[in-house]
Amino acid sequence: MGIKVELILVEPEDYFTALVWTTGSKEFRHRVFGDVKPAQLTKAGSEEEVFKNLQMSFVPPEMREDKGEIEMAREGAIPELVKPSDIKGDLHVHSDWSDGGATIQEIVAQARSMGYSYVAVTDHSKSLAISGGLNEERLSHQGKIIDALNQEMEDFHVLKGIEVDILRNGSLDFEDEVLEKADVVIASIHSHFNLDKEKQTDRIIQAIKNQHVHIIGHLTGRLLNRRSGYELNLEPILEAAAKFQVALEINSHPDRLDIDEDTARQAKDMGIKVAINSDAHHREDLKLIYYGLLNARRGWLQPEDVLNTLEYDSLIAHLKNKGRR
Ligand SMILES: [Zn+2]
Ligand SMILES: [Zn+2]
Repeated sequence: MGIKVELILVEPEDYFTALVWTTGSKEFRHRVFGDVKPAQLTKAGSEEEVFKNLQMSFVPPEMREDKGEIEMAREGAIPELVKPSDIKGDLHVHSDWSDGGATIQEIVAQARSMGYSYVAVTDHSKSLAISGGLNEERLSHQGKIIDALNQEMEDFHVLKGIEVDILRNGSLDFEDEVLEKADVVIASIHSHFNLDKEKQTDRIIQAIKNQHVHIIGHLTGRLLNRRSGYELNLEPILEAAAKFQVALEINSHPDRLDIDEDTARQAKDMGIKVAINSDAHHREDLKLIYYGLLNARRGWLQPEDVLNTLEYDSLIAHLKNKGRR
């Protein structure tokens, strides 16, 4: 594969200092270690101690970029970032009703094994025929099966969701009467990637304005190392998401990690909620959420910034409230 590896050998007592040294960006390293005398750095027994020696509070590895965190750490004001145990459920999972490989029961079993209290089944909508998108009739049938499943469980909830396609002109692949019956609606682009910037931006804003849309899925459509995102003006999209209280997704698939960490941080600053979703198409893929979580931490997200840290009752209240505005 030709992947380069750097091996750094240090004395045991220098291990933690070297760890902090090597996990930050070059800018972080220069500013933090720049004028420090070697004597200040010896014999730290943990990363926390390294920062203590530097008269800073602990900076999580994901924040070591010199993007404002050094000042915060010197004032002892580093935020508590979202962590795996904060995540209460997954809001974007495909079942074998569309192009997923798992039955709804298998998805539930996996979600429960991960300590979740809810999972949303969000199959594709009808225009995505190539991925087995559901028409209104099949979606309604799936909803009845989910209702029955929920009847059997006391401590776990399956949300009736849909990943509805945003069509070329910004309208959605289902009528409002269908969308309003869903517990959670993700709107995503899966076609017409080559529209010009204005049209693509407007298309997404149209979707954000639909009162039944809760989340915009994989906003930029980027596929890492394969395809950059489509042409978009992020600013007006973020403004619309803030105004219409639509969450943005961090799609956790390692090929996507979309939205990226800078957009996540901008969203946080604008009061836009972020949903960290696996977009799993197989049972095991629910675990991919870990990568999205790392991306969220790189964007400085805290539990209160993330939609799926809410307990089930609060989540449902939040989602329903959205539809009434
Ligand atoms: Zn999608
Ligand atoms: Zn999906």
